[in-house]
Amino acid sequence: MNFEELAEEFGTPLFVYDTAELHRVHQRLRGELPDSVDVLYSLKANPNVSVCAYLRSLGVGAEVSSHAELATALKAGVRPEDIIFLGPGKDITELQACVDAGIHAVVCESVEELHQLDDIAGPRAMIRINPSFGAKGSGLTMGGKPRQFGIDQEAVGKIDLTTTRIIGVHAYMGTRFLDHDDIVRNTAEILAMAEEVAGALGIPLETVDFGGGLGVAYFDNETDLDLSALGAGLREVIEPFTRRHPETRLIMELGRYLTATAGTYVVRARYVKQSRGDWFVVADGGTNHHMAAVGIGSFVKRNFPVRHLTNDGSRRQYTVTGPLCTPNDVIAKKVELPEVRPGDLLAVGRSGAYGPTASPGLFLSHGYPAEVIVHNGQAHLVRQRDTVQDLLARQTLVDFR
Ligand SMILES: *Cc1c(COP(=O)(O)O)cnc(C)c1O
Repeated sequence: MNFEELAEEFGTPLFVYDTAELHRVHQRLRGELPDSVDVLYSLKANPNVSVCAYLRSLGVGAEVSSHAELATALKAGVRPEDIIFLGPGKDITELQACVDAGIHAVVCESVEELHQLDDIAGPRAMIRINPSFGAKGSGLTMGGKPRQFGIDQEAVGKIDLTTTRIIGVHAYMGTRFLDHDDIVRNTAEILAMAEEVAGALGIPLETVDFGGGLGVAYFDNETDLDLSALGAGLREVIEPFTRRHPETRLIMELGRYLTATAGTYVVRARYVKQSRGDWFVVADGGTNHHMAAVGIGSFVKRNFPVRHLTNDGSRRQYTVTGPLCTPNDVIAKKVELPEVRPGDLLAVGRSGAYGPTASPGLFLSHGYPAEVIVHNGQAHLVRQRDTVQDLLARQTLVDFR
């Protein structure tokens, strides 16, 4: 990947996605998962239509959570039967769009929502369960707590619907799991819970979505998942389930894991300065496109992998910041880098998930960065950077004279 050339051609700040890495990650994962498990891509992680289309070309379906994400998946060529729609606040337009598109199922998060879907004659729903058990190993615990998501496992009772059939169960236990044992244990608990819920409700188990939340290592205190161990553990809990339910479609929905390592955030150093003894690189992009790099949630500030793309001389400690007028706009704190000069390029690795769409891109009105996908050595601009005109176009000027 020649980032210098890409930066020259497309400008910075820039997100670059590499299809070879998307392919590699998917191959490895597919090689470990039982064949009975379908992989859906959670567009939330990176809703670029071409990223979605490339994953679709590998046979990956889509898990979407808004009307626009649904439209993106359909435009990317994902077959409706490989799409599910979830999210706690779907409106009637979104439900209708799911019905019109003929997606596999709407994952309903409340009894009220099931009735709404029934009212518009939606054929297939799954119910999302807020499990009574919690998960270890995620920064974000979903089970066992009061949540706006799903129906509490303890409260599941008979639901009378006219048209809509409940075809299965969904649960999502959290994100950024890096220990395979935690994921295997969650999966076992979810599969057992699904059988219990299906029994209590008298519904078939045509589909069970057991979430995912597979993490990637960002920080130097983390290590990547042991995928072989994960595969072996999952096969052990999934095979007996599949023997009991040979017709059940099993779904794993993954965002971060599929795209994170394929993405690089490329910024250019504008100023290099010292303040009270510390060296700062002020770059042209920062947390406005890459909020995750702030490392919110961790007590100590840890750094994403940052590389110097221009120079590999003697090293010095730098804090890399963006252009925002807030001291929190720090991409990397006190990282050792070869000497940085104004105009040099820096790359933040593992940035293909929860980048621009999970960041305050409109803060200080810098707007969305450009996105490029590199496939077979060829770079395609897959999202244009916002211009000043773009940012003003949707505002209305009131004439106060
Ligand atoms: C965010 C989310 C995902 C994707 O999570 P990752 O950790 O990125 O894989 C999947 N399912 C649900 C319900 C989510 O909220």
